[in-house]
Amino acid sequence: MDIFLKSLDEFKWETSSAERIKSGANPRTQWKQLVDKDICDSSGISVGYSKIPKGEDLPLHNHKPQEIYFVMKGSGFLLMENHKLKHIKEGDIVFIPENKYHGIKNSGDCALEFLFIFTAERWKDINYNFVSNQT
Ligand code: FE
Repeated sequence: MDIFLKSLDEFKWETSSAERIKSGANPRTQWKQLVDKDICDSSGISVGYSKIPKGEDLPLHNHKPQEIYFVMKGSGFLLMENHKLKHIKEGDIVFIPENKYHGIKNSGDCALEFLFIFTAERWKDINYNFVSNQT
């Protein structure tokens, strides 16, 4: 298998499908899928880059696979169960255990951008459960 190398600029921004929006996804939050089985034949890992516009959020949700966030730009709050919040900013890393509820609110003055890493082969196969009325 060959080593895969590409620039972030080469990937296209994606937005949630109508189905995901219906289940609670924010239509204004975007992402780029960077590494997964279909893109570079990776196994057991996938990576993406997400952008939450100023004032927007990635609503509280959970999923089976573990996830890591690495905040690249901006600041805001990490949303957790029971309305708990933690301030997050550029340079912060977050580990989310299996099935743990989490989300991000951008409360800064620019877009909040972060890398997300999953122990899953494809992001599109991950089942998101949004808690639309808890944030
Ligand atoms: Fe998540």
